[in-house]
Amino acid sequence: VVDKIAALPPGEPYHSLEFFPPKTSMGFQNLQARLERMARALRPLFVNVTWGAGGSTAAKSLQLAEICQRQLGLTTVLHLTCTNMSQAVLDETLEMAKEIGIRNILALRGDPPRSDDYRNTPCDGTSNGGAGKEFEYAIDLVRHIRERYGAYFCIGVAAYPEGHVEGARPEKQDPLFDLPFLVEKVKAGADFIMTQLFYDADKYLWFEKLLREEPSGVLSELPVVPGLMPIQSYSMLKRITKLSGASLPAGILRRLDDVKGDDEAVKRVGIDIVSEVIEKIKAADLSGPRGFHFYTLNLEKAVSFIIERTDLIPPLDESALEEIEDPVVNGAT
Ligand code: FAD
Repeated sequence: VVDKIAALPPGEPYHSLEFFPPKTSMGFQNLQARLERMARALRPLFVNVTWGAGGSTAAKSLQLAEICQRQLGLTTVLHLTCTNMSQAVLDETLEMAKEIGIRNILALRGDPPRSDDYRNTPCDGTSNGGAGKEFEYAIDLVRHIRERYGAYFCIGVAAYPEGHVEGARPEKQDPLFDLPFLVEKVKAGADFIMTQLFYDADKYLWFEKLLREEPSGVLSELPVVPGLMPIQSYSMLKRITKLSGASLPAGILRRLDDVKGDDEAVKRVGIDIVSEVIEKIKAADLSGPRGFHFYTLNLEKAVSFIIERTDLIPPLDESALEEIEDPVVNGAT
């Protein structure tokens, strides 16, 4: 991922698309067809495959990652969480990822069970293969991958423009609380950062400045990819912003409140809103290439409209298109 970002022509924006593994084989077939269409039409720089906390989707995440990386020839970032996971499963997953050609891992903590007892126990406490290695925070996974695989994997980590919901001070998220831990994740070997979703462009730009000016300097040039989720419905938006702690600026909320009884209108206004967030961020100064990450929820329409409208589709690269059309013939496996 970082090599691809570094190779972009100056000023060229890029985007990435995130998918989760479907539950059924029919779901996989449908998603594969959708992915092929989206890859051809939108030309993402890379795609992400999510991981169920505790390894609940392990086999299916690997299956989807293999489809993306091998069959479709897309640069794929596999998400991997480390709490409530045995080290044996983590190591097996990393081995399998390597076998299927994955070079990029988003190293995450995951959400631990809500028990105070849990927080200092190694992995799941029972099936860690006897290794006894502790994975309490994402940094432990970053370190583990670097120790075991050196520079083989390009590693991404998560960041939170409005602070992680579990921030230190009760009921108060605070990006300043998370910042030193983010710096440590990067010092431990992370190569790029992807952010939590947000709808307040000003808050994101403030956060980006905070990272760029952080005194240690390790964040000054690291790729940071802001995360955006198209608005699919009013109730889902309310639920997701509550869970993630993302704020909805009053102006945005008003526009959605005005149409909240009409699902199609919510989607239309949502496309306007997310496109405006992107345009505002694009207009801000940045030394390196500007990227955007889309939490697609495996849906195609809204994200496609937004990417087209904000000119995020890169110019056609004939060789890349050939790979997507015929990855096996073109050696993308
Ligand atoms: P960490 O970096 O470990 O941080 C978690 C919290 O702990 C932060 O508040 C941090 O400030 C604090 N902290 C860190 N180190 C210390 C320390 N030493 N002492 C005290 N506090 C500390 N979840 C999934 O289950 N599957 C996914 O596929 C997935 N994809 C994601 C993709 C993105 C881009 C993002 C932003 C999140 C994703 N998540 C996913 C959610 C993520 O697992 C949760 O947000 C989780 O609660 C935190 O993960 P983290 O990697 O940011 O944790």
